[in-house]
Amino acid sequence: MTLNLQAGVPAAASPVEAAEALRGAAAGVSDPGDAALGAEARAVLKRVFGYDDFRGDQAAVIEQVSAGGDAVVLMPTGGGKSLCYQIPSLLREGTGVVVSPLIALMQDQVDALLAVGVRAAFLNSTQDSFERTRVENAYLAGELDLLYVAPERLASESTKRFLENGTIALFAIDEAHCVSQWGHDFRPDYLGLSELADRWPEVPRIALTATATDATHKEITERLKLGRAQHFVASFDRPNIQYRIENKGEVRRQLLSLIRSEHDGDAGIVYALSRKTVEQTAQFLAANGVNALPYHAGLDAGLRARTQSRFLREDGVVIVATIAFGMGIDKPDVRFVAHIDLPKSVEGYYQETGRAGRDGMPSTAWLAYGLQDVVQQRRMIEQSPGDLSHRRKLSSHLDAMLALCETVDCRRVNLLGYFGQQSVPCGNCDTCLQPPQSWDGTVAAQKLLSTVVRLQRERNQKFGAGHLIDILRANKTPRVDQYGHDELTVWGVGSDLSEQQWRGVVRQLLAKGLLAVNDDGFGTLVLSPTSADVLSGALTVSMRTESERASGAGGAGGGGGSRAARAKAAVADLPDDAIPLFEALRVWRGATAKVMGVPAYVIFHDATLREIASRRPASLADLEGLSGMGQKKLDTYGEEVLAVVAATP
Ligand code: ADP
Ligand code: ZN
Repeated sequence: MTLNLQAGVPAAASPVEAAEALRGAAAGVSDPGDAALGAEARAVLKRVFGYDDFRGDQAAVIEQVSAGGDAVVLMPTGGGKSLCYQIPSLLREGTGVVVSPLIALMQDQVDALLAVGVRAAFLNSTQDSFERTRVENAYLAGELDLLYVAPERLASESTKRFLENGTIALFAIDEAHCVSQWGHDFRPDYLGLSELADRWPEVPRIALTATATDATHKEITERLKLGRAQHFVASFDRPNIQYRIENKGEVRRQLLSLIRSEHDGDAGIVYALSRKTVEQTAQFLAANGVNALPYHAGLDAGLRARTQSRFLREDGVVIVATIAFGMGIDKPDVRFVAHIDLPKSVEGYYQETGRAGRDGMPSTAWLAYGLQDVVQQRRMIEQSPGDLSHRRKLSSHLDAMLALCETVDCRRVNLLGYFGQQSVPCGNCDTCLQPPQSWDGTVAAQKLLSTVVRLQRERNQKFGAGHLIDILRANKTPRVDQYGHDELTVWGVGSDLSEQQWRGVVRQLLAKGLLAVNDDGFGTLVLSPTSADVLSGALTVSMRTESERASGAGGAGGGGGSRAARAKAAVADLPDDAIPLFEALRVWRGATAKVMGVPAYVIFHDATLREIASRRPASLADLEGLSGMGQKKLDTYGEEVLAVVAATP
């Protein structure tokens, strides 16, 4: 089977030869121009990677860098940053040198490239000297299209001298926000990368990151000396991710219900704040038949590496993790990201949820949050070391997160707005799908705040939410008796609302800053500077109606709500009669991946398997046009895939 890439270019036997032929063709044309460059890039996209169209800014970035220009690329996770430097590396003469801090993942990145016939290798500290020499010789002989290098290696003079003896197509600086000293991923070795500009002024450089703020963007441009670069700032929207935030009841049951009703057998990540919660939740899920594993910094390095590798290699593993898990993991088929504790900032939340659905297929970002989260985080901020301005910064991060949680408007509009991007209601978040009701909570707020005032003024006492609610609802407890709180004038004035509704009132007042957490470390509640406006009636308070389905009991099966029927995303909108073949192909893929020692997605993405399952190709020619089916994969797996199709009714 041969495929003519372009008039005048001979059909080549391998994708790499094809790229080389194209390179030659480009050199032979007197003025290749934008159109020719674009056609070449597109041909490589189809032949090597098996994709029909570029996404978003990809084509423009590739054109800029292939023509020798610099680029700064801000694109969300899953936006397709890799192709932005991989294709120019194939089109230009020499080797594309990729700087990446994620040593643990270089092997997988290289495996994925080798699987499509691109000549890739890496240099890092995990290699023995024999292996290193082999890679170095390949580079010097011009036999590499891409070379991944750890930043600390590139910082050394000997590496630079070595690189000078070969031909560099471009430098790609991945995770470029690591150069920013104010971000949380700062890596000192990245500062040394500014030298690339001086030492190789003629080699194009492309810096890429999924961190969206203006401040980081500026720092990258300055510190990496990218003054002449063209800038590409993509929309940060991830339309295939459905954002949902619900009230926390029995959170583990809610989580289990989400997994059972919508993500049975899917890969997912569950984030929690403490190691203990991580351990307990993983145990709970495992005891209930979910293939769940814990991951946190307290586990030994070997076990962590094995856990990560299982997540990447096996289908349908759920990782319960502290935030220490996930950076740079480019597993495309993570179908859900769940937060069972409130994240500390919108940045963190967006980065973590962004790990879902990189392949563009429907995915869920689910967060459960409740009164206790707000109290706990406010308390942590009050008690955090650091100076006042540091606490203010933490506080404003939390406020933005709470505003997202409590909004009655579209979650996505709120999220993108946070990153300075305008949008319209999305139709794919919980508030769009089931618009929340709101009610006038001014009187309830006044009742609660006056209880706080009375206890403080009349008795010089402070209490947490539970006891305040007991007083409002005339709930006789030993503590009520102990303090004689049934004699307060506010005793029982709030029996019109349920306990759950009152917790919602307290949570929303805290979220809006109309009530505060005391800094005594006990989570007692006190007035905030704006409480007086509510008490005086100058400020009315509109509140989100609490949905009852998350209330306390949270029985399994309830949490999935009306979308329970959506079934797991992997087979969503596959015709029923295609499902057996899809499952058979997944089994074949799993076995093949095991033999090859690579993650399943390196063999084929789910999207490709879905296409095969619904079209039932009968010949290699039928397979050829499918998305994700490049030349090398067709050659390697085509016959096997056809055999699976033929054997499955
Ligand atoms: P990022 O690094 O920006 O998070 P990746 O480069 O890992 O994103 O790409 C995300 C996924 O999208 C990958 O699985 C990749 O194969 C796929 N992809 C990238 N570009 C395209 C495209 N033009 N068409 C189809 N799939 C694409
Ligand atoms: Zn929406």
